[in-house]
Amino acid sequence: MSKLKIAIQKSGRLSEKSIKLLEECGIKFPNGGGKLITEATNFPIEILFLRDDDIPQYVEQQVADLGIIGENVLVESKKKINLVEKLGFSSCRLSLAVPKETQYESLEFFRNKRIATSYPNILSEYFQKLQIEVTIEVISGSVEIAPGIGLADGICDIVSSGSTLLSNGLKEVEKVLDSQAVLVANHDLEDSKKQILEKLLFRIQSVRKAKENKYILLNTPNSKLEKIKTILPGMNSPTILPLAKESWSSLHSVIREDKFWEVIDELKEAGAEGILVIPIEKMIV
Ligand code: ATP
Ligand code: MG
Repeated sequence: MSKLKIAIQKSGRLSEKSIKLLEECGIKFPNGGGKLITEATNFPIEILFLRDDDIPQYVEQQVADLGIIGENVLVESKKKINLVEKLGFSSCRLSLAVPKETQYESLEFFRNKRIATSYPNILSEYFQKLQIEVTIEVISGSVEIAPGIGLADGICDIVSSGSTLLSNGLKEVEKVLDSQAVLVANHDLEDSKKQILEKLLFRIQSVRKAKENKYILLNTPNSKLEKIKTILPGMNSPTILPLAKESWSSLHSVIREDKFWEVIDELKEAGAEGILVIPIEKMIV
């Protein structure tokens, strides 16, 4: 039976979370010793450890069938590969920044200016659409020092908290692209590999749904049950069990974590007590 080859970043910001995602999907594989390729012991998949910039090309050329990369790398690469699933981790943005003392009013600022970046394709397309002429200085790392050493008037780089910009005397002025880790695939997978991908995707989605949802238990007087049921939009109908305490029940349901914070006060007001919120490991719906 053929195996699916997935390329993940060898060492960097995506590595740990990519490995964790595969592990959470129940895939076991020997990891460590600096190996470049390893085989899962309980799932038909091989894992290749590569530099993230090389992954789009390898996926396009079918050296790997799948890859986990940042959307920023996918868009910049211009390779013809499929975005299969957004993975919800390593969120960041590609932004334009200028020295913090610069008086910045609009994108017009950049007209005929020099911008240092490792993302020349994304950036040139961005300014082409705006019909603003710029000079792009391509550098592969430490982009944020470029204005300070007189190489450029501004930069375009990955930002998450903005603290790197700040410590280099820069301020973020425009967002060019939102990014997160994504699963990409060769667009011409053979059927047997597509089937393995479907299985993997099902597991990835179950893990993600589990993270977004919580199991909630609460106690309520029976008189308040109906009201509480309307506040709690569960997966389907909640489980209701009688408590030893006369005329009280325990209600169990599943709730989106973000919704939980919205309804917690409502629940308490409606008479809910002893509220417990418990993480879910896997969620199959
Ligand atoms: P490689 O050696 O594999 O080429 P790299 O130095 O290009 O690694 P990293 O810095 O490890 O890349 O970042 C990998 C990806 O993680 C980026 O392409 C981006 O999608 C994401 N990323 C980068 N910086 C951040 C950040 N500060 N916060 C969140 N995600 C980030
Ligand atoms: Mg890289």
